[in-house]
This record gives sequence, C-alpha cells and structure tokens, in this order.
Amino acid sequence: MSVRARWGEMAWPDVGQASLERRVVILPVGSVEGHGPHLPVDTDARIVDAVCQRVADAAPDRVVVLPTVWYGICPHHMDFPGSITISETTFIQYVLDVCESVARHGFRRLLLLNGHGGNQSALDLVARMVATRHPGVLCAATAYYVLPQAEAAEARVRDHPTRGSMGHADFSETSLYLAIQPEVVKMGRAVDQPLPAGGFGFAPEDAPVTLMQHWSAITPTGVLGYPTRASVKAGEVMLQGAVEGVIAVVDQLLELSPGPRVDHHPRQGPEEQP
Ligand SMILES: [Zn+2]
Repeated sequence: MSVRARWGEMAWPDVGQASLERRVVILPVGSVEGHGPHLPVDTDARIVDAVCQRVADAAPDRVVVLPTVWYGICPHHMDFPGSITISETTFIQYVLDVCESVARHGFRRLLLLNGHGGNQSALDLVARMVATRHPGVLCAATAYYVLPQAEAAEARVRDHPTRGSMGHADFSETSLYLAIQPEVVKMGRAVDQPLPAGGFGFAPEDAPVTLMQHWSAITPTGVLGYPTRASVKAGEVMLQGAVEGVIAVVDQLLELSPGPRVDHHPRQGPEEQP
C-alpha cells in the first residue's frame, strides 16, 4: 500500500515532489446508473476505482491515482431509478478542469481511465483538448475493458456465447463486482439477457457505426449479457487483467515524449506601405 501513489492521500509537499518524478497521473472516471436488478448502481465507478487502486499498489513508483470521478454521462439509462447523469458539456468542462489543474502542478503525463461506455467520446475529446492546449503535456484516454490484457482475461474465464464485448450488468461486470464486494451483489435476482439480434438495431459489430438508443428500449431489465454465469474467481482474473493492461499503457506513456511542434505557416514580411 503506497500512500504516495494516491493523490487524495498526499499532502501538498508530496504532490509537489511527485510532480518532479516521471509519473503518469491516472483519473478514473465512472458512472452511477441502473445495472440490472442485481448490481449496485455504482458498478461502473466502483470497478474502475478498484482497478486503479490496484494499479496504485502494483506500480506506486510510476503512477499517481486521482480520486475517482463518480458520476458520468448516462442519459440513456435515466429510465432506470438510481441513474444520475451529468450533462455532456458540464462533464467535459469538469474533467477538463481536473486535467488542467493537474497540468498546472507540473505533471506531464495523464491517463483518463474510463469505466462506462457513455463517457468515452467525451473523454477522448478532453484528452485531445488537454494535449493541444498544454504544450509538453501528454493526455491519453482509454477504458479498462478494451485493453487487450483485460479482454484476454475475460476470454480465459468466459463460458457463455458472446457477440463482441458490449455488455452491461453482464458476466464481466457482475464477476468484477463479486470480486470487489460480493455482499452487495444480489445474485438471486440476476437474469440473463442476450444481446438483441443485430446489436442495437444497427449491427454495430459489423460496421464502425455509433448508435445509442434509450437503454430501456433495448433490454427490459437493464441487463445485456449473462450475469448468472458470473463468479468471484472470474472477477479476480479479470481485475488482474485490467490492472496489467493499465500498467502496460502507463509504461508506454512513460516511454513517450511529446514531439516538437513545427509551424508550417509561411513567414510574413513587413506589411507593404500604401
Ligand atoms: Zn457498467
């Protein structure tokens, strides 16, 4: 357990010292939204937070983990009680403000680690805004569940049919929550809900097309996937895979240096006098 890898537990001189070291500052970003009749509404936030706490323990010399952004963008889940959504522009500005504060304190590498699909396009945008507005700062965005190590871990423990990785309150999320805090998962209520034919109505697995409807139009329970197959053991394997995936991204970011900008505008001469 390394206090010096957790931003929130550091005193300001410690943060100042960490800014002089080569570290990647990780911002975990979750969501609070309906996750089927069996999982807590904080599932996305709890899982990404747990992944990052384990990263802090595993690589305390290379990372600083910020306190988790608990709320995200989930207007498509608002038909399910308990969902809390942040309007898109507010969310973008809020996460940007966090990142710019981190940059102000001298850190040069940031990783926005997402735990909820609905946040991804906004986080990608924030990462670009930070990197282009702050010379010398690298800011990357990804989600724990798309990292190859996480996907490989899920494939090792999965024993049910699957169509792509898009699931919700499914085998993966249920197993992960079981590995984090089993007593709040109501497995007796878990129901399987296969992905609808044609994905969400547009076969997104077959074409790079983005389409999101209200979640209540896609699934009656909020579940998409096979949560009844979930287990603590599978969750532990997947947690480990996610941690390894995040550390691999951290190591890549540590090897990377921002390239020098080149201004290709033609040089302007003195303005001609009339
Ligand atoms: Zn989720």
